[in-house]
Amino acid sequence: MDFEFTDSERQFAESMRRYAQDRLRAEYPSWDRGAPYPRERLREIAGLGITGLRVPAEYGGAEGSYVMGGIAAEELARGDYNVTLFLQLTMIAGDILSGHATDAVKRRWLPAMASGERIIAFGLTEPGAGSDAAALTTTATRDGDSYVVRGEKASITFAGMADACIVFARMGGKGARGIGALLVPLDDPGVSRHLYRSAGERLTQRGSLVFDGVRVPAENLLGAESQGFIQAMASFDYNRAIIALCCVGAAQQSLDETVEYAKQRHTFGKPIAKHEGVSFQIAEHLTLVAAARLLAYRCLSLRDRGEPHTKEAAMAKWLGPKVSVEAIHACIILHGWMGYDQDLPFEQRLRDVIGLEIGDGTPEIMKAIIARETFGREFSAYK
Ligand SMILES: Cc1cc2nc3c(=O)[nH]c(=O)nc-3n(C[C@H](O)[C@H](O)[C@H](O)COP(=O)(O)OP(=O)(O)OC[C@H]3O[C@@H](n4cnc5c(N)ncnc54)[C@H](O)[C@@H]3O)c2cc1C
Repeated sequence: MDFEFTDSERQFAESMRRYAQDRLRAEYPSWDRGAPYPRERLREIAGLGITGLRVPAEYGGAEGSYVMGGIAAEELARGDYNVTLFLQLTMIAGDILSGHATDAVKRRWLPAMASGERIIAFGLTEPGAGSDAAALTTTATRDGDSYVVRGEKASITFAGMADACIVFARMGGKGARGIGALLVPLDDPGVSRHLYRSAGERLTQRGSLVFDGVRVPAENLLGAESQGFIQAMASFDYNRAIIALCCVGAAQQSLDETVEYAKQRHTFGKPIAKHEGVSFQIAEHLTLVAAARLLAYRCLSLRDRGEPHTKEAAMAKWLGPKVSVEAIHACIILHGWMGYDQDLPFEQRLRDVIGLEIGDGTPEIMKAIIARETFGREFSAYK
């Protein structure tokens, strides 16, 4: 069993960490306070190969592995957790489009996404269908050479700034088999956007997308009309491990900063690091975060090898955000009154990480998947 990165993975990790420290870290609070994220900054990130990681070379992408996606997620999150959302959404769109789009759609959207010119959102959740996504009610009805889309997608990352959205819509009968995926450009007058007042992840302009009879060319269908739900679940299968690593990166950075602080801050005549009540807490959190990290990379390496990884992805997605939230919370307390101040990054990191404790599936749903994969579908409450 090999737990080491290759030389090129290590170099990639180092370049990501340098960029996160030199460029992302100082600006992290600005986007939380409402500054709009400039497109030229996205193009700069694209220059690192991030937004084209899962795009084929012929469309301007890097064709990177899933482990490389995990490395980028972990390292970038040390500087700015929310920048990893560009990585996540472009990995998902890169895989879905390169696997299922027509050539015309690939040519129009993949190079533009890889170069940071265009953002593609992922629209599965609805006001009445989140965990039970197969209950969605948005429709895409075939009419000649087009589909007509009606419905509302809720809690969509990048709703405020995306140029297109992969919309999962009912195209046939009931349940998962009746759901197809369609790439819907968002410049149609029938699209309206409603932004949320999010507790965190504010850079991403999360919100609702409402489709009021939006006409989309039939060539924008992604795969077969009955295959959309399967595409969504295949994306979750690895993105859950990527999310775990985003959380691990934010937690590890917080713990590293807290180790340094604990060496400097004195109480009762000695550095607080010498109080075992402090150092043992840090030891515990470091251990749990390291365990979550290994689980997530194991999932991604299974994915790269084409082996089953649904259970590992759910385990990583349950454990990663949970131990990270607990670690960052401890870092706030260990910094005393200063930890609770917005001049330090901990409370922002905590709010941000909690967002993806919910996004891509809640802890309860992760446990339901782990149980289903363990006991078998015949023992699952959900089919
Ligand atoms: C920051 C953020 C970003 C997001 N980005 C996107 C995005 O880009 N695209 C997108 O499509 N969606 C996105 N989402 C939506 C997200 O995927 C859903 O919020 C999530 O799947 C949960 O659905 P829900 O919010 O409707 O909760 P519900 O399904 O209504 O669940 C409510 C509560 O009940 C619990 N629960 C539900 N069913 C069960 C059960 N069977 N057993 C035990 N407990 C259960 C849940 O765990 C949860 O605590 C995002 C969400 C967040 C917070």
